[in-house]
Amino acid sequence: MILILLGPPGAGKGTQARLIMEKTGLVQLSTGDMLREAVAAATEQGQAAKAAMEAGALVSDDVVIAITAERIEKEDCRDGFILDGFPRTVAQAEALDRMLDEKGCRLDHVIEIRVDDEELVKRIAGRFVCTKCNENYHDPFKRPAIEGTCDKCGGTKFIRRNDDREETVRARLAAYNRETAPLLPYYQARGVLRSIDGMNPIGEVAKEIELLLAG
Ligand code: AMP
Repeated sequence: MILILLGPPGAGKGTQARLIMEKTGLVQLSTGDMLREAVAAATEQGQAAKAAMEAGALVSDDVVIAITAERIEKEDCRDGFILDGFPRTVAQAEALDRMLDEKGCRLDHVIEIRVDDEELVKRIAGRFVCTKCNENYHDPFKRPAIEGTCDKCGGTKFIRRNDDREETVRARLAAYNRETAPLLPYYQARGVLRSIDGMNPIGEVAKEIELLLAG
């Protein structure tokens, strides 16, 4: 199964992708995580991406398409994957169509997770992440059960992303509305788009996604 989770930053794409991964065994492909790794490793792609990411802008299509194309060739993507944060522009969606055509695969579902802008800003400011497994936490909404220890992997190091500051979040939302929202009619026209209410609690959103995938 090939699934795209579409939605603005803070909508819960990463959280839901990890829940789907636990249930189905499908691998989660987050271009944001891949780019952050490339930046940390100071690869050529990381260096090209760094400034745009810090400003809350989109990284160039060429870079993101190249890392995704390389990633989906890996063995763990053989039975499908969950795309979290890709595509984010029409050019990326067209490139994905070509990649899937070449592999003889088809896109099964595009799920849009909808959340109001002000709620997104609230959610993102306060977010912190386990450095070992990327599990998301939030003060005050979701703290680890044991203070300082990741619920998922037992890791004890957490970071706050630089681009989770309020002014950068607003730039990221503007980029979403300008460049990613046009993907909604793109996938609507292909009959694969389903939209769900991301304002609901995590468990309810997960249930709705499960129903959509089963249906
Ligand atoms: P995310 O973790 O998905 O919010 O991504 C963090 C940042 O990485 C974004 O604000 C962009 O700068 C960059 N990024 C991630 N995925 C893409 C993409 N598909 N196209 C362009 N830039 C991306």
